Amino acid sequence: MSLSSNSSPSSERYVGRFAPSPTGPLHFGSLVCALGSYLDAIAHGGHWLIRMEDLDPPREVPGAAERILHSLHTHGLHSHSPVVWQSKRHDLYQHALQQLRAQDQIYPCSCTREQVRRAGGHTKANCIGESGPHSLRFQCAGAREGFTDIWQGAQQQAIDEDPILKRKDGLYAYQLAVVVDDIAQGVNHVVRGADLLDCTGIQRCLFRALGAEPPQFGHLPLVMNEAGQKLSKQNHAAPLDDNKASSNLIQALGFLGLRPSQDLAANTPAHILVWASAHWQRKAVDRHNRRSTNSTTATPGNS
Ligand code: GLU
Repeated sequence: MSLSSNSSPSSERYVGRFAPSPTGPLHFGSLVCALGSYLDAIAHGGHWLIRMEDLDPPREVPGAAERILHSLHTHGLHSHSPVVWQSKRHDLYQHALQQLRAQDQIYPCSCTREQVRRAGGHTKANCIGESGPHSLRFQCAGAREGFTDIWQGAQQQAIDEDPILKRKDGLYAYQLAVVVDDIAQGVNHVVRGADLLDCTGIQRCLFRALGAEPPQFGHLPLVMNEAGQKLSKQNHAAPLDDNKASSNLIQALGFLGLRPSQDLAANTPAHILVWASAHWQRKAVDRHNRRSTNSTTATPGNS
């Protein structure tokens, strides 16, 4: 699919999604991703889903999932199907592992990170195997993946390590769950932040191993803070102020290359989203990570 086109290559209905992890409240950078995925889906007559990636309890912040859903709702971003929670889908992940095991594409591994590194990224052949607690690794090291990203253009990714699909502590890994759910939910367009571009090659391999065609990927530019870091929960990006939903949306639209008039900010989020989906253009999005010219990106204490 070309950057200059807003049309879908096939007659299949566009299905997109936003998949936050509940490790903290949404910030301006996550709003940009949610909004970009929403607008790209709506502008293509698509279906847009919210999936809560509550897969890793030790990293979760109590109440964050509900707060994220409330923020999305306040900003007019409603899932077209009931929100799916990964914590309730372990059977699906287990089933996918059984399929990969039957295909001889995963193996148990109790190597340390250093052993994996010294084994040149690893393969089943030089794994010390299953002694004590072990993870399950997907055999794909050495593969090369070429694809065209909607915004980041032509990509060539060399996979240098067999990724973990189930961790030593028994938790299912992000790489497995995200692919299994995208397949199960019929997602054919993944629009998300450019921080996830590097794991796309692995995910494409996993889609095919599970018998599915990889979706079209589009990685949006990241919003950076004053220190040149990606806005993130880890570096204490300010939570979105839900009382300023309309003005947050106007600022996020500006970051995505739309030019709403300031008058639009006096409208409801629903009204702003109707305007935005009619004006959405992939080619207006500048693919480079950068700061946003607004006050919501400030790190508390630095502004
Ligand atoms: N849950 C992931 C995150 O919050 C995003 C997954 C994805 O969009 O593929 O970083």
